[in-house]
Amino acid sequence: MERTFIMIKPDGVQRGLIGEIISRFEKKGFSLKALKLVNVDRPFAEKHYADLSAKPFFNGLVEYIISGPVVAMVWEGKGVVATGRKIIGATNPLASEPGTIRGDFAIDIGRNVIHGSDSVESATKEIALWFPEGIVSWQSSLHSWIYEEN
Ligand code: GDP
Ligand code: MG
Repeated sequence: MERTFIMIKPDGVQRGLIGEIISRFEKKGFSLKALKLVNVDRPFAEKHYADLSAKPFFNGLVEYIISGPVVAMVWEGKGVVATGRKIIGATNPLASEPGTIRGDFAIDIGRNVIHGSDSVESATKEIALWFPEGIVSWQSSLHSWIYEEN
């Protein structure tokens, strides 16, 4: 089953959006496989966003991510990477549809509340980076109420 890495950024934590965000993924039917509240240091944030290191906003982005605790999560489910990105909404909240997390709760691109892996390949890399200890192995008893085939 597919997995994605989701992070509630420091603004999402400070603004009290943890429960709301988790709730959206839970109610959809996705399954939580790992969860932790952590402060990340600069080298770790730079590693997470290494692909963006040449961008002019890179330093500001790293400052943002290390400015307070973040909630790191692994969610599992059919199509969770692409659907997770839809639930999150477009990168720039001014363009995010209402009903998406960024569309409902953010205004500036540099304070857009949440991160989600952009591909299955990125998800695999990000999960390994954020959860070297591994994830939790369990299956929801609701599985057959969410998926037609088991
Ligand atoms: P995402 O996958 O939708 O999060 O977007 P990207 O991977 O392209 O960028 C990572 C993060 O960098 C975004 O979520 C924003 O927080 C930030 N970011 C991206 N583009 C810009 C920009 O043009 N200006 C600023 N200030 N931040 C940006
Ligand atoms: Mg990205």
